[in-house]
Amino acid sequence: MSRAVLRVSLLLLAALGRAGAGSEQDQDQEHEHGGEDSPHPRQKGPGRSHWSYEDKDHWGMDYVNCDGTAQSPINIDTSKTIFSPQLRPIQLSGYSLPANEKLRLKNNGHTVFLDLPGSLAITGGYAQQYRAAQLHLHWGSQSGPGSEHTVNGHRFAAEIHVVHYNTKYASIQEAIKQPDGLAVLGAFLEVGPRENPYYQEILEHLYNIEREDEEVLVPGFNIAGLLPDNLKLYFHYNGSLTTPPCYQSVKWTVFNQTMMISNAQMSMLVTALKYDGSEPLQNNYRLAQDLHGRQVLASFQTTLPSTKPLPSDSDDSAAAGHSSFHPGDVLAVLFGVLFAATALAFLLYIYKHRSQNARLDSPTKSKVIYTAAATENTA
Ligand SMILES: [Zn+2]
Repeated sequence: MSRAVLRVSLLLLAALGRAGAGSEQDQDQEHEHGGEDSPHPRQKGPGRSHWSYEDKDHWGMDYVNCDGTAQSPINIDTSKTIFSPQLRPIQLSGYSLPANEKLRLKNNGHTVFLDLPGSLAITGGYAQQYRAAQLHLHWGSQSGPGSEHTVNGHRFAAEIHVVHYNTKYASIQEAIKQPDGLAVLGAFLEVGPRENPYYQEILEHLYNIEREDEEVLVPGFNIAGLLPDNLKLYFHYNGSLTTPPCYQSVKWTVFNQTMMISNAQMSMLVTALKYDGSEPLQNNYRLAQDLHGRQVLASFQTTLPSTKPLPSDSDDSAAAGHSSFHPGDVLAVLFGVLFAATALAFLLYIYKHRSQNARLDSPTKSKVIYTAAATENTA
């Protein structure tokens, strides 16, 4: 009897420990993470790159790194990701920009990118500090999705990449070739019921930059609104730029929560831009690359812990060889019940606290792609 009580108490203690750890997510630096890919560094100068997505299977001929063994994007197989409690929530600073700070939005023939001031930074979640450089998008067409990363083989409608470089380097040009040079935050976009006001800050200007090399200045806004509210749940691995020259310099973070934009917004994204004269700029994504043994870490558990059936109380008594009831047992039971009640109250408090947090999420950033033991594929 007292053994059973003790076991219950220990289980509750363990549960409390897990709940506490989950709600705090503090301390450690993340150790290893995957590469970063430096998505589309700015194309500049006379030799604006001549590569194209039609030619993506042969990028390695002109850009040897594209045939490397740590390339991006990848398919994230959630049955093989490694839960790494050391992965702290990503923290952003300086992401909310005033409207009087103008940002360059440009169609470079491969994507639309938005220049970001270096005052934006990743200040938590990575072992080092990274400064923002630019963000851009990958998309499909009216007839198919176009995210670069896939999850369990599922391709999402589109994907945003926010590119940062390690502050130990003087510029992104210097950082882009270094193994620890870049950190890219990626999030998936899906079609949802309403217009997303943050994405609208970009999309409403696309008609001004329909042609390759056109650019426009757009007012600053809260760039963090383009990323999920939940920056705790993500996948992490070492990879590369997903475009030539494919440098293997990216520590990738791919968020579990997806972003929603309206159907009209998604249509605008996939139809507005052109390149090379009048070709529609569509399907600007690279296919999943071989992992070559790389590990993909997850900041959360993607599979349920294995559950072993507990021996029943009667089994326990039988094992103990007796079932008599001693006065000490009464105290043990009393203590157990009090402890259980306290623990339950604490767990309820945590649950309530989390629900309140969840309610703060805006409807434009709702979905969690992956929850333990279940995936949902929408879109
Ligand atoms: Zn990219």
